[in-house]
Amino acid sequence: MDRVALNLLRMRIGEMPSSGMSTQMAPFPANQIEFQAILDRLADLPAEDLVGRLDIGGFAPHPVELGGIEQRCAECIYYLPHRKWCDLPELPVPVEPQWWCRLWKL
Ligand code: SF4
Repeated sequence: MDRVALNLLRMRIGEMPSSGMSTQMAPFPANQIEFQAILDRLADLPAEDLVGRLDIGGFAPHPVELGGIEQRCAECIYYLPHRKWCDLPELPVPVEPQWWCRLWKL
């Protein structure tokens, strides 16, 4: 996918909540077992199921505060800033630095 297509996809993802889409933002995985369980559910999805991927990942196009910490893609270990890309293999999507999902990790 070229840069223009990625930008359009990123824009489309960011607009999904305003079109009525909600995602499973909770529960936030409390340990590695719960984290892996979400990854396993993502891995079972067809590669083209973007809505399912965002739903199970608990995606949100805004920061989320948990435990007194504001969490954003920008500080997540999976965020690739030069590509504005989530490098988690089970959630390969273009993202903005101020977005979030429940697989956020420092
Ligand atoms: S895993 Fe990290 S970089 Fe990827 S969408 Fe979730 S918070 Fe953003």
